[in-house]
Amino acid sequence: MAMGKKRVTVLITAVLALCLIGLRQAEEGRETARAGAAAEGTAGRVALTFDDGPGGESTEALLDGLKERGIKASFFLIGRNIPGKEEQVKRMDEEGHLIGSHTYDHVDLTGCSVEEALEEIEGSAAAISEITGKPVRYIRPPFGSWSRSLEEASDMTRVGWTVDSEDWKGGEAARIAERVLKTVRDGDIILFHDVYGSSVEAALMVADALRAQGYSFVTADELILD
Ligand SMILES: [Zn+2]
Repeated sequence: MAMGKKRVTVLITAVLALCLIGLRQAEEGRETARAGAAAEGTAGRVALTFDDGPGGESTEALLDGLKERGIKASFFLIGRNIPGKEEQVKRMDEEGHLIGSHTYDHVDLTGCSVEEALEEIEGSAAAISEITGKPVRYIRPPFGSWSRSLEEASDMTRVGWTVDSEDWKGGEAARIAERVLKTVRDGDIILFHDVYGSSVEAALMVADALRAQGYSFVTADELILD
Protein backbone atom coordinates (compact mmCIF):
# COMPACT_ATOMS: atom_id res chain seq x y z
CA MET A 1 0.00 0.00 0.00
CA ALA A 2 2.83 2.36 1.01
CA MET A 3 4.63 1.39 -2.19
CA GLY A 4 1.52 2.23 -4.27
CA LYS A 5 1.26 5.71 -2.74
CA LYS A 6 4.91 6.38 -3.51
CA ARG A 7 4.39 5.31 -7.08
CA VAL A 8 1.42 7.64 -7.44
CA THR A 9 3.45 10.51 -5.94
CA VAL A 10 6.29 9.86 -8.39
CA LEU A 11 3.85 9.76 -11.25
CA ILE A 12 2.20 13.04 -10.23
CA THR A 13 5.59 14.71 -9.81
CA ALA A 14 6.67 13.50 -13.25
CA VAL A 15 3.46 14.80 -14.87
CA LEU A 16 3.86 18.17 -13.14
CA ALA A 17 7.49 18.40 -14.23
CA LEU A 18 6.52 17.68 -17.84
CA CYS A 19 3.82 20.34 -17.68
CA LEU A 20 6.29 22.90 -16.37
CA ILE A 21 8.82 22.06 -19.09
CA GLY A 22 6.06 22.39 -21.67
CA LEU A 23 5.00 25.77 -20.32
CA ARG A 24 8.57 27.05 -20.28
CA GLN A 25 9.16 25.90 -23.83
CA ALA A 26 6.01 27.65 -24.99
CA GLU A 27 7.13 30.83 -23.23
CA GLU A 28 10.58 30.59 -24.79
CA GLY A 29 8.95 30.10 -28.18
CA ARG A 30 7.02 33.32 -27.73
CA GLU A 31 10.17 35.15 -26.59
CA THR A 32 12.01 33.98 -29.71
CA ALA A 33 9.15 35.09 -31.94
CA ARG A 34 9.18 38.52 -30.30
CA ALA A 35 12.96 38.83 -30.61
CA GLY A 36 12.70 37.91 -34.32
CA ALA A 37 10.70 41.05 -35.09
CA ALA A 38 12.10 44.32 -33.77
CA ALA A 39 9.63 46.67 -32.11
CA GLU A 40 7.92 49.00 -34.56
CA GLY A 41 9.62 52.33 -35.03
CA THR A 42 12.92 51.35 -33.39
CA ALA A 43 14.75 51.27 -36.73
CA GLY A 44 13.21 54.53 -37.96
CA ARG A 45 10.49 55.79 -40.28
CA VAL A 46 10.08 55.47 -44.02
CA ALA A 47 7.46 56.55 -46.56
CA LEU A 48 6.21 54.25 -49.32
CA THR A 49 5.22 56.43 -52.27
CA PHE A 50 3.49 55.49 -55.51
CA ASP A 51 3.42 57.45 -58.78
CA ASP A 52 1.46 57.30 -62.04
CA GLY A 53 -1.82 55.86 -60.73
CA PRO A 54 -4.55 55.26 -60.15
CA GLY A 55 -3.71 52.03 -61.90
CA GLY A 56 -6.81 49.88 -61.70
CA GLU A 57 -6.26 46.27 -60.66
CA SER A 58 -2.71 46.69 -59.35
CA THR A 59 -3.70 49.73 -57.32
CA GLU A 60 -6.63 47.80 -55.86
CA ALA A 61 -4.27 44.97 -54.82
CA LEU A 62 -1.93 47.50 -53.26
CA LEU A 63 -4.72 49.20 -51.31
CA ASP A 64 -5.81 45.78 -50.01
CA GLY A 65 -2.25 44.92 -48.98
CA LEU A 66 -1.70 48.23 -47.23
CA LYS A 67 -5.01 47.96 -45.41
CA GLU A 68 -4.20 44.44 -44.23
CA ARG A 69 -0.93 45.74 -42.80
CA GLY A 70 -2.30 48.96 -41.38
CA ILE A 71 0.15 51.01 -43.46
CA LYS A 72 -0.47 54.56 -44.72
CA ALA A 73 1.27 55.41 -48.00
CA SER A 74 1.41 58.33 -50.44
CA PHE A 75 -0.04 58.40 -53.95
CA PHE A 76 0.85 60.93 -56.63
CA LEU A 77 -1.81 60.72 -59.30
CA ILE A 78 -1.84 61.51 -63.00
CA GLY A 79 -5.03 63.46 -63.67
CA ARG A 80 -5.85 61.76 -66.96
CA ASN A 81 -5.78 58.35 -65.22
CA ILE A 82 -8.51 59.33 -62.79
CA PRO A 83 -11.71 59.19 -64.92
CA GLY A 84 -13.32 55.79 -64.33
CA LYS A 85 -11.20 55.16 -61.21
CA GLU A 86 -12.85 57.68 -58.92
CA GLU A 87 -13.69 54.95 -56.40
CA GLN A 88 -10.00 54.15 -55.95
CA VAL A 89 -9.17 57.78 -55.28
CA LYS A 90 -11.98 57.90 -52.75
CA ARG A 91 -10.67 54.75 -51.12
CA MET A 92 -7.12 56.16 -50.90
CA ASP A 93 -8.48 59.18 -49.08
CA GLU A 94 -10.83 57.26 -46.81
CA GLU A 95 -8.09 54.83 -45.82
CA GLY A 96 -5.76 57.61 -44.70
CA HIS A 97 -3.27 57.76 -47.56
CA LEU A 98 -1.77 61.02 -48.74
CA ILE A 99 -2.81 62.03 -52.26
CA GLY A 100 -0.76 64.44 -54.32
CA SER A 101 -0.58 65.69 -57.90
CA HIS A 102 1.70 64.11 -60.50
CA THR A 103 0.41 66.51 -63.20
CA TYR A 104 -2.52 65.91 -65.54
CA ASP A 105 -0.58 64.50 -68.52
CA HIS A 106 2.69 63.37 -66.95
CA VAL A 107 4.67 66.21 -68.51
CA ASP A 108 8.18 67.42 -67.86
CA LEU A 109 7.36 70.64 -65.99
CA THR A 110 10.62 72.32 -66.94
CA GLY A 111 9.92 71.70 -70.64
CA CYS A 112 6.97 74.11 -70.82
CA SER A 113 6.10 77.61 -69.66
CA VAL A 114 5.49 78.20 -65.96
CA GLU A 115 1.87 78.96 -66.79
CA GLU A 116 1.42 75.65 -68.58
CA ALA A 117 3.22 73.84 -65.78
CA LEU A 118 0.87 75.30 -63.20
CA GLU A 119 -2.12 74.23 -65.31
CA GLU A 120 -0.74 70.69 -65.41
CA ILE A 121 -0.21 70.61 -61.65
CA GLU A 122 -3.61 72.09 -60.91
CA GLY A 123 -5.39 69.90 -63.48
CA SER A 124 -4.65 66.77 -61.50
CA ALA A 125 -5.21 68.50 -58.17
CA ALA A 126 -8.68 69.64 -59.27
CA ALA A 127 -9.63 66.12 -60.36
CA ILE A 128 -8.52 64.77 -56.97
CA SER A 129 -10.25 67.50 -54.95
CA GLU A 130 -13.47 66.97 -56.80
CA ILE A 131 -13.55 63.43 -55.42
CA THR A 132 -12.11 63.90 -51.94
CA GLY A 133 -13.43 67.38 -51.22
CA LYS A 134 -10.01 68.29 -49.87
CA PRO A 135 -7.31 70.59 -51.22
CA VAL A 136 -4.17 69.00 -52.70
CA ARG A 137 -0.99 70.37 -51.14
CA TYR A 138 1.75 68.20 -52.58
CA ILE A 139 3.24 67.79 -56.04
CA ARG A 140 5.65 65.16 -57.21
CA PRO A 141 6.99 66.41 -60.55
CA PRO A 142 7.30 63.72 -63.24
CA PHE A 143 10.96 62.78 -63.80
CA GLY A 144 11.79 64.88 -60.74
CA SER A 145 11.94 67.94 -63.02
CA TRP A 146 11.47 71.11 -61.03
CA SER A 147 12.82 74.64 -61.18
CA ARG A 148 13.28 77.68 -59.01
CA SER A 149 10.57 79.56 -60.90
CA LEU A 150 8.13 76.73 -60.29
CA GLU A 151 9.09 76.69 -56.64
CA GLU A 152 8.15 80.38 -56.48
CA ALA A 153 5.04 80.18 -58.66
CA SER A 154 3.40 77.10 -57.14
CA ASP A 155 1.96 77.06 -53.66
CA MET A 156 2.28 73.31 -53.47
CA THR A 157 5.09 71.52 -51.69
CA ARG A 158 7.30 69.39 -53.88
CA VAL A 159 7.93 65.82 -52.77
CA GLY A 160 11.02 64.10 -54.10
CA TRP A 161 12.36 60.65 -53.23
CA THR A 162 15.53 59.29 -51.71
CA VAL A 163 15.31 55.65 -52.80
CA ASP A 164 14.30 54.70 -56.36
CA SER A 165 13.03 51.13 -56.62
CA GLU A 166 13.56 51.38 -60.41
CA ASP A 167 10.46 49.23 -60.67
CA TRP A 168 9.62 50.79 -64.04
CA LYS A 169 12.52 48.80 -65.50
CA GLY A 170 10.47 45.65 -64.95
CA GLY A 171 11.85 42.40 -63.58
CA GLU A 172 10.83 40.18 -60.72
CA ALA A 173 9.28 41.59 -57.59
CA ALA A 174 11.94 39.97 -55.40
CA ARG A 175 14.72 41.74 -57.35
CA ILE A 176 12.99 45.10 -57.04
CA ALA A 177 12.49 44.58 -53.30
CA GLU A 178 16.10 43.54 -52.87
CA ARG A 179 17.30 46.73 -54.57
CA VAL A 180 15.33 48.85 -52.11
CA LEU A 181 16.22 46.85 -49.01
CA LYS A 182 19.94 47.11 -49.77
CA THR A 183 19.99 50.88 -49.37
CA VAL A 184 17.03 51.93 -47.24
CA ARG A 185 17.66 53.98 -44.10
CA ASP A 186 15.70 55.95 -41.52
CA GLY A 187 13.88 58.89 -43.10
CA ASP A 188 13.85 57.53 -46.64
CA ILE A 189 11.10 58.27 -49.15
CA ILE A 190 10.83 55.24 -51.41
CA LEU A 191 9.56 55.54 -54.99
CA PHE A 192 7.35 52.89 -56.58
CA HIS A 193 4.73 52.90 -59.36
CA ASP A 194 1.45 51.18 -58.52
CA VAL A 195 0.57 50.69 -62.18
CA TYR A 196 2.65 47.48 -62.34
CA GLY A 197 1.70 44.25 -60.59
CA SER A 198 5.35 43.35 -59.89
CA SER A 199 5.88 46.74 -58.34
CA VAL A 200 2.97 46.32 -55.98
CA GLU A 201 4.21 42.88 -55.01
CA ALA A 202 7.69 44.30 -54.39
CA ALA A 203 6.36 47.17 -52.29
CA LEU A 204 4.49 44.79 -50.02
CA MET A 205 7.61 42.60 -49.68
CA VAL A 206 9.58 45.69 -48.72
CA ALA A 207 6.88 46.65 -46.23
CA ASP A 208 7.00 43.26 -44.52
CA ALA A 209 10.80 43.13 -44.43
CA LEU A 210 11.13 46.66 -43.06
CA ARG A 211 8.45 46.11 -40.46
CA ALA A 212 10.30 43.01 -39.23
CA GLN A 213 13.44 45.17 -38.97
CA GLY A 214 11.58 47.65 -36.77
CA TYR A 215 10.62 50.39 -39.25
CA SER A 216 7.36 52.25 -39.08
CA PHE A 217 5.53 53.75 -42.07
CA VAL A 218 4.44 57.34 -42.45
CA THR A 219 3.06 59.47 -45.26
CA ALA A 220 5.66 61.48 -47.19
CA ASP A 221 4.60 64.84 -45.72
CA GLU A 222 5.94 63.71 -42.36
CA LEU A 223 9.44 63.22 -43.76
CA ILE A 224 9.87 66.34 -45.88
CA LEU A 225 9.23 68.85 -43.11
CA ASP A 226 12.65 69.64 -41.66
ZN1 LIG B 1 5.63 59.42 -63.13
